[in-house]
Amino acid sequence: MFTPIEGRSVMVTGGTAGIGKGIAACFAGAGAKVAITGRDAERGEAAAAELQNAGGEVVYVQADVASGPDAERAVAEVVGRFGGLDVVCANAGVFPSSRLEEMPEQEIDEIFAINVKGTMLTVKAAIPALAASGHGRVILTSSITGPITGFPGWSHYGATKAAQLGFLRTAAIELAGQRITVNAVLPGNVVTEGLDDLGEDYRRTMEASIPLGHLGSVADIGNAALFLATDEAGFITGQTIVVDGGQTLPESVAALGA
Ligand code: NAP
Repeated sequence: MFTPIEGRSVMVTGGTAGIGKGIAACFAGAGAKVAITGRDAERGEAAAAELQNAGGEVVYVQADVASGPDAERAVAEVVGRFGGLDVVCANAGVFPSSRLEEMPEQEIDEIFAINVKGTMLTVKAAIPALAASGHGRVILTSSITGPITGFPGWSHYGATKAAQLGFLRTAAIELAGQRITVNAVLPGNVVTEGLDDLGEDYRRTMEASIPLGHLGSVADIGNAALFLATDEAGFITGQTIVVDGGQTLPESVAALGA
């Protein structure tokens, strides 16, 4: 049995949709006070209301992770509202698709600004509050794409998701002295509104490549994040948990049918 994290203060960037919303739901369900961030205020307020109706204490804070001042303000608002900050889930991310030959430079700048710089600015802004907590936790949402696998159209995306892991290894050492752990969850294919946009064919192909036979749920990712936030996970830092139904295991398609 894990020590309850009831009453802990949690901020989830990009918590207004998809995986972030699923992470927020897991923490709220465990009795934590949860702040979700995102750029679109209408979507953010609706997500907070939905999560609150499910029984959690959830507030929305409008913020763009690619902006340093927004990151500082978001953390200050959460600390002001909840009296501190114990857990930061740096989850916000975008995944536009372009093959390298046609990739606009602006798309490269944007994806790095959100996925990499946004992760770093979020963690940087949260350090004083996490240190004050005495059991600070940083949980990044990376991906199997980049750190382990590749997929055409996502060379820039994969580069950002691998970059997050380069960041976490040094951040974990730097922040260890303040009793802050830094870990990452690497989701495989997870059912979200974003994945729906990629179409039914993509979904069927992905399901066929997963040994456990189905895509992940946002709760699968949320539960891994929740574990990393527990007191019992306090000796784990600089590490990654792959949550992919075995998708990265087969050494060839033949392995799936054998
Ligand atoms: P999603 O459904 O599109 O949701 C993305 C969330 O991030 C939204 O809340 C969005 O809100 C927010 N966001 C985007 N840009 C932002 C910015 N600049 N500042 C603040 N918030 C921002 O995406 P998802 O599929 O849940 O993906 C979430 C994370 O999981 C990403 O880091 C992604 O790389 C990772 N991931 C996803 C999958 C998957 O299968 N879905 C697999 C592996 C990894 P606004 O647009 O309103 O800002």
